[in-house]
Amino acid sequence: MEKIKMSTPLVEMDGDEMTRIIWGAIKEELLNPFIELNTEYYDLGLEYRNQTNDQVTVDSAEAIKKYKVGVKCATITPNGARMKEYDLKEMWKSPNGTIRAILDGTVFRAPITVEPVKPYVRTWKKPITIARHAYGDIYKDVEMKIEEKGKCELVFTSESGEEKRELVHNFAGNGVVMGMHNLNKSIESFARSCFNFALDTKQDLWFATKDTISKKYDHTFKDVFQEIFDSEYKTKFDQAGIEYFYTLIDDVVARVVKSEGGMIWACKNYDGDVMSDMVATAFGSLAMMTSVLVSPEGNYEYEAAHGTVQQHYYKHLKGEETSTNSIATIFAWSGALRKRGELDNNDALVEFADKLEKSSIKTIEDGMMTKDLALIAEHNNIQTLNTFDFIKAIRKTLEEIL
Ligand code: NAP
Ligand code: MG
Repeated sequence: MEKIKMSTPLVEMDGDEMTRIIWGAIKEELLNPFIELNTEYYDLGLEYRNQTNDQVTVDSAEAIKKYKVGVKCATITPNGARMKEYDLKEMWKSPNGTIRAILDGTVFRAPITVEPVKPYVRTWKKPITIARHAYGDIYKDVEMKIEEKGKCELVFTSESGEEKRELVHNFAGNGVVMGMHNLNKSIESFARSCFNFALDTKQDLWFATKDTISKKYDHTFKDVFQEIFDSEYKTKFDQAGIEYFYTLIDDVVARVVKSEGGMIWACKNYDGDVMSDMVATAFGSLAMMTSVLVSPEGNYEYEAAHGTVQQHYYKHLKGEETSTNSIATIFAWSGALRKRGELDNNDALVEFADKLEKSSIKTIEDGMMTKDLALIAEHNNIQTLNTFDFIKAIRKTLEEIL
């Protein structure tokens, strides 16, 4: 078979620990034999980030702006222990935070479902994608403890010196108070990212807030989504045969649990934080969760939702056998390759991405899986494989499908 060619590069961001080991194995077994891989490589491994004073992270984000598609390996976010372990010059920031700040956008997280791993919610047949707004609300709040009698007010002073006041509460004793904000511009780009992703993946979009109680704050989210939908997306949604559905947050929770799945659930920042952990766990395993950052300009960065699987790496270094699940990292690659193929009208690349995903799922459905899945799977012939044998098993299935 002739190798598939790529006319435009995609941005490849290597990472740390066990996921770095997996990264190499995936390229060697599942990509290089079939594709003339055209990537612009950035080493986001902690050592090189430290060497370049983290410039490499900024450069990789700029490269995504240029090429529109990137794939990222999990990376260490340094803490005190990592400062010592890697003898760091500084406690560098989370690469994901840096990249998100440069690209802006929304993170979509979706579980990869396989037949032998049943969701805890019986009705769920299709994956549920969570879109979390990643700006503001309680993550950028200011708070106060009230420790004596007095009144608390919300005051806005305009540049011209005019004041607007609202009484928050007349405190008769101890209490707490919080001020938070969001920006229309950020809500607008959140809305557009969600509508674009729904069109991209041909799934309904559900959104919910508590607008009946929060008549200005949450209501603004509702209004911004509705205005943008009506003026820019309604026709496109009709043509694609998908729906935009708005309801209250408590109503949506009940509806999601009773649904078959298969929708994108857009969440305000805090709701997304809580609900993404609920959805990931309910579908089975963190190792089966993919994640993609979609910017309002249409840049895409794909990655696994899990971290560098540190404990497995230490075992690997000691020469012990590991059974690390590479599915989410494989799907980060297939997602990026498919998007590259779509943007370049490269059908062969799109088809390869589909087949890579199919063979990954089929391998598990045939009973070959890593330990994390073997523990929760329902299958009458489970073979628990180590990290590398699992990737080799996928290669074998892939060669049969191609
Ligand atoms: P983690 O790497 O996600 O691993 C936590 C545990 O989840 C593992 O010990 C393992 O459980 C299980 N697990 C996760 N992924 C797995 C996989 N692919 N296959 C099998 N089991 C898997 O989280 P962490 O240990 O809290 O963090 C390690 C490092 O990752 C930290 O330095 C953190 O900064 C970084 N991190 C990076 C990202 C990112 O780049 N997006 C995200 C999160 C964390 P068992 O040990 O029970 O097998
Ligand atoms: Mg959380």
